[in-house]
Amino acid sequence: MPINAPRGTQDILPSESQKWQSLERLLLETAALYGFSEIRTPTFEQLELFQRGVGGTTDVVQKEMFEVKAQKGEDLFALKPEGTAGAVRAAIEKGLLNDALPLKACYITPCFRHERPQAGRLREFHQFGCELFGAASPAADAEVIAIGRHILTLLELKGVELRLNSIGCKTCRQDYYKALRSYFEQYRDKLCPTCLERLEKNPMRILDCKVPECGEIAKGAPVVLDYLCGECADHFSETKERLSQLGIPFVLDPKIVRGLDYYTKTVFEFVSEGGLTVCAGGRYDGLVEELGGKPTPALGFGMGLERMLILMEEQGIRLPGGRTCDLYIGSMGPEASRAAGKLAERLRAEGFWVECDLMGRSVKAQMKYANKLGARLSMVLGENELASGRASVKDMATGEQKEIAFTEELSNLLYDAMLAREADELAEQLGPDAFQRILGMGRQ
Ligand code: ATP
Ligand code: MG
Repeated sequence: MPINAPRGTQDILPSESQKWQSLERLLLETAALYGFSEIRTPTFEQLELFQRGVGGTTDVVQKEMFEVKAQKGEDLFALKPEGTAGAVRAAIEKGLLNDALPLKACYITPCFRHERPQAGRLREFHQFGCELFGAASPAADAEVIAIGRHILTLLELKGVELRLNSIGCKTCRQDYYKALRSYFEQYRDKLCPTCLERLEKNPMRILDCKVPECGEIAKGAPVVLDYLCGECADHFSETKERLSQLGIPFVLDPKIVRGLDYYTKTVFEFVSEGGLTVCAGGRYDGLVEELGGKPTPALGFGMGLERMLILMEEQGIRLPGGRTCDLYIGSMGPEASRAAGKLAERLRAEGFWVECDLMGRSVKAQMKYANKLGARLSMVLGENELASGRASVKDMATGEQKEIAFTEELSNLLYDAMLAREADELAEQLGPDAFQRILGMGRQ
């Protein structure tokens, strides 16, 4: 019996990996424009990190965690359900917060959540995230949100709305929690069991409950923006001002909460017209301290790559890139096959994608395969070619042939073909100039 992939996981096949690579490059290079460098942290961490770093009252920790069965006597581990906790742990442990601040770190990481699989909801998915440590200013909020918007603009994704909220700080939350508790108390008999628990521990999380009845009740709940203290209100108003200045439209959405004590002030989501949240983030001024570091303001976001690709697919957005085979060297007979192998290796050393026959096929079948590969040029080596050192090189698209010496002349021809291909690709590329510049940069 063949073995299937686990439910809720996806294989990224060779035919699909190109679009992932292009997207990932665009994300990392965009983050780099804002000074973010990549951080790579382990796929599993101590379970306690997520209990403290994501929060004991969240669905993620209560219901969705993949715990790793450790050896007897060892700590309990879990696969990372998100990227922030690991990044914060590493920043504290490796002393990165003692260096010049702000610290700007970004990552692309697999995440694991035991959810019911459906479109855009997997058990292993991938997140691109940015985390900015050390800046308490609204300027930092605006900059982090701008990265998300910048990416959506570069991709020319339409209809993705920025929803914004502020959930205040510990001070303003005291009054807000009181108001929430007295509101939800009236509906005690209608709330789901998890929300009843939340009512005691963290009533703001009820606003995020996915149970429809709870959602209905939550609609009438007091709104956190009415309870912000002076400092949080000022911070929010400057954040909004800065977003407007940057030309980043947003709508206020009091339903967005991150719900944990150490999430503070600004929270936001980028949501598609179809209701898919592709990117979510916020400020977590209390988290570094909660995880044992010195108090450090911080904020960030996580972007779901599978969801981004779903939207791109829906909107017919194709990322440019993807190499094509530069040359297929066919051969007739064992001696020519050896010569083809040797020539291919020399040309690869010059940076060309060159293939030759590994299957012992007939020349006709070799050319059919070259066609299928999409090779730009092809040639066939036989006795005559080996004797003369010259061969006829065919442009697979036009059928045009040219006889050349397969030494420097061949390299020059391939080089010209490569330049022509790059020009074609540039002309074909979607998107504003900046997009072309970014992808152009990666190709140097
Ligand atoms: P949702 O409300 O959709 O469950 P969430 O609040 O659990 O989202 P976050 O923890 O904020 O999500 O994660 C950040 C981003 O990661 C989401 O906006 C989404 O794009 C992506 N994401 C989260 N869970 C999944 C999943 N199970 N499968 C695919 N992508 C996901
Ligand atoms: Mg979720």
